[in-house]
Amino acid sequence: MPKDRVFNFAAGPSTMPLEVLREAQSELLNYGETGMSVMEMSHRSKAFQAIHEDTKARLRALLKVPEDFEILFLQGGATLQFAMVPMNLIGRTGKADYAVTGSFAGKAADEAKKYGEVRIAASSKEKNHTYIPAQDQLDLHEDASYFYYCANNTIYGTEWQYTPQAPAGVPLVADMSSDILTRYIDWDKYAVVFAGAQKNMAPAGVTAVFVNKAYVGNALPISPVMLDYAAMIKGDSMHNTPPCWCIYMMDLMLKWIDAQGGIPAMEERKRARSKLLYDVLDSSSLFKGCAEKGSRSFMNVTFVTGDPEIDKRFIAGAKERGIENIGGHRSVGGMRASIYNSMPIEGVQALADYMKEFEKQG
Ligand SMILES: *Cc1c(COP(=O)(O)O)cnc(C)c1O
Repeated sequence: MPKDRVFNFAAGPSTMPLEVLREAQSELLNYGETGMSVMEMSHRSKAFQAIHEDTKARLRALLKVPEDFEILFLQGGATLQFAMVPMNLIGRTGKADYAVTGSFAGKAADEAKKYGEVRIAASSKEKNHTYIPAQDQLDLHEDASYFYYCANNTIYGTEWQYTPQAPAGVPLVADMSSDILTRYIDWDKYAVVFAGAQKNMAPAGVTAVFVNKAYVGNALPISPVMLDYAAMIKGDSMHNTPPCWCIYMMDLMLKWIDAQGGIPAMEERKRARSKLLYDVLDSSSLFKGCAEKGSRSFMNVTFVTGDPEIDKRFIAGAKERGIENIGGHRSVGGMRASIYNSMPIEGVQALADYMKEFEKQG
């Protein structure tokens, strides 16, 4: 790690691998003999078309995405998908089931209420979203157009450790913004999977959306064309100008993940990274993990000391050591270490060492 770089634990936008940034830097002024930057080229150019195709192909290969899914690169973030999903899918029965396991899942449910009947299949709110409901705690209905859940709760630091089972004929929809590319996905069960890219795969500005074609073509008539999956598929994400630079950066990131050993390597690393921190939490009498064991996130480790003043001192001391952005989300406080695919184990080790030292010194 160069001396002028810090270990950046931000939840998103978040750190990217040095190799990826250097490659982008080396191609910034002249991409592949075109004499221009990817930022400057037409999205219809041969050079950019090749980048776009490569990004889709890599994503498909890495995550073993079957051919009945289209891969879209859209704008508006994960938050726009909170509306796009019901606009396209809820029309089938007029109803959908939502698990509210955190802030983003709650926002998605609220948005969906504008377009149909939303039933809360489970809510962890009464325990401050510190756990993920078990399968038998989910109140699911056969007449739901889909069952929606947020796979990793970025703010609370909880993650579904299992793929929920919906009633026969009811597909799943999942927000995987903060844990995409860290494990394989059981595609057969899903209608839509989406991920804002700025957590685990690219800079902010692009959202990867995987759409099962079997569920396309039922957008509510009020849907703007930009919110109609069918139109986006027809235009191959280029109904209008796509976020070209972000797609290019995602391509570099996917190449990097490939070179590291793909999803199995990312899975192994996420376990190693999160174990370092949870082991410290489990043996600490100062720090306390926020999430219940069994629901703990591999991606966002949330913890507190119980005293906001000590939290503040801990966060300030971390910054002095080049450990940045470990403050919890503004809505919950405490600490949060976001340890996505790009976070090197050395960064996590540095944080774990600092936690132990801080506790010893009191
Ligand atoms: C960050 C995040 C969002 C919001 O993403 P935007 O791209 O800012 O809309 C939604 N869901 C999850 C799980 C997130 O981590």
